[in-house]
Amino acid sequence: VQDKLKSLKQNTNNTVNALLDNLALNLAAKVDAKIAQGESIGLLEGIPFGIKDVYMVQGTLTTASSELLKNYKSAYTATAIQKLLDAGAIPLVKENCDSFGHGSSSENTIFGAVKNAINPDLVGGGSSGGSAVNVAKDYTVFSIGGDTGGSVRQPAGYNNVYGLKPTYGRISRYGLMAYASSTDCVGPIAKSIEDIRIVLNVMSGKDQKDQTTYASAEIAQDAISDAKDIKTVGYFKNFIENDAIDAQIKSDFLSAIEKIKAQGIQVKALDFFESNTLVSTYYTLAMAETASNLSRLDGTNYGNRIEAENLKETYAVTRSENFSEETKRRIVGGNQVLSQGFSDEIYLKGLNLRDQISENFENDFKEVDIIISPVTPNIPPKIGDSLKDPLAMYLSDAYTVGFSLGQLPTLTVPQGTATGLQITAAKNNDELVLKFANFLK
Ligand code: GLN
Repeated sequence: VQDKLKSLKQNTNNTVNALLDNLALNLAAKVDAKIAQGESIGLLEGIPFGIKDVYMVQGTLTTASSELLKNYKSAYTATAIQKLLDAGAIPLVKENCDSFGHGSSSENTIFGAVKNAINPDLVGGGSSGGSAVNVAKDYTVFSIGGDTGGSVRQPAGYNNVYGLKPTYGRISRYGLMAYASSTDCVGPIAKSIEDIRIVLNVMSGKDQKDQTTYASAEIAQDAISDAKDIKTVGYFKNFIENDAIDAQIKSDFLSAIEKIKAQGIQVKALDFFESNTLVSTYYTLAMAETASNLSRLDGTNYGNRIEAENLKETYAVTRSENFSEETKRRIVGGNQVLSQGFSDEIYLKGLNLRDQISENFENDFKEVDIIISPVTPNIPPKIGDSLKDPLAMYLSDAYTVGFSLGQLPTLTVPQGTATGLQITAAKNNDELVLKFANFLK
C-alpha cells in the first residue's frame, strides 16, 4: 500500500496540500503490517481518498481555499472523516475548491482555477471542483466534497462522475466548515454507485456533536439491485421547457425519459417553482447564514490578522484584505438581508418560500417515487467567464438548489454528453436514489 501511494499521480491544481508525507504513509504502514501478518482487511482499508479543504483533519492545514485561513491548522478531525480513517481509508490530499464553498466553478480560490477533467479550457465546476476532478482523473478513488446548494452534484456532472448529496442530517457536519448550516451536507464523489454506497454507509449516523443528525440503517448491496418497486418517475416541466436550457442537455434529458418509459415506468410532468424563485430563495438564505457563520473569522481566534490602529479597525482590515470579492459580496448581501427593516421583507419571505418548496416536494412524493432533473441548464463555462458575471453563475445553480432547500437526497449520475442527471427521492430515502441509479446504468 505504501509503494502504491508513493506512485500515485497528483495534480497540484486540484490539490491544496498533500497529506501523503505524514498521515497517509503512517496509515498505509499499518495496513501493510496487517497484510504481512496475513490478516484480512476491510473494504476501505488502504484506499486513498481526497478531502475538500473545508474539513478539519487534526494537525493539517484547513484553508477553505482562502487567504484568511491559509495558515490555519485544524485542532480536531471532522466526524465524517474520522469514520473513514477508522475504516482504514487513507487521506491523500486536501482539495482545491471555491473559497468557503462560495461558487460554482472552483475559480474563487487562492490556489488557481481547477481545470475540467474532460476539457481543461473549461471550469472544473464547484465548489467541490478539485474533488470531482481528482476522482475523474483517478488521482483519488473517492473524494469527500461538501454540498450546500449543489457543490458535489454540479462538479460531479461537469466531470462525468457520481456525486451524492445525502438527506440533510444523515452525515454529521461536525468539522465541516459551516457555509449555510441549514443546507450544508457532506457528500461522496466516486466513479461507481457501489463506491458511493460503501462510503455513505461508513460516514452516516447519529452524532452527538451535530444535533441535526439522525440514525439510519445501512444500505445493503442487494437492497439496491432491484428497482421493481419504482413505478412512477416525475420531472419538473419548467426545468425543461424554458429558453435558458442548453439544447444538448435538453435532448439528453428527453432521451433519458424515453428510456425510462420504455422500461414500463410511468413518467409524470410536475409543476414547480420558477428557477428564479429557487435561486433567489436559496441565495437569500445562504448569504444570510454565511454572513453569520463567517463573522467569527476576524483575525482574533481565527485567520491571518492584519494589525491596525484599534480592534475594530483590525477586524475591518483583516476581513477586507483577506476575503475574496465573492465572499465579501455574500457577507454584505447576507447582512443586508438580516438587518432591521429588511429582514421581515426578505429573510422571512425566504424562510416562508422554503417551507412552500418543502411542502411542494412532500406532495410530489405522494404521486411519484423519484424525481429526475438535469444537473445544470448550461454546459461548463470557459475558465474566466463566471468571474465576470456572478448573476449568471448563481442562475446556473437553478436545478440543484431546490433539492438543497428541501433537504432531499439527490445523486448526480453521468449522462451522455450532457452535464449529468440528478435523481432525487423523498427525505431519508437515499436507498431509493441509489436503487434507481443502478436501474438506469
Ligand atoms: N454554487 C452554490 C453557491 O455558491 C453552491 C455552493 C455549495 O454547495 N457549496 O452557493
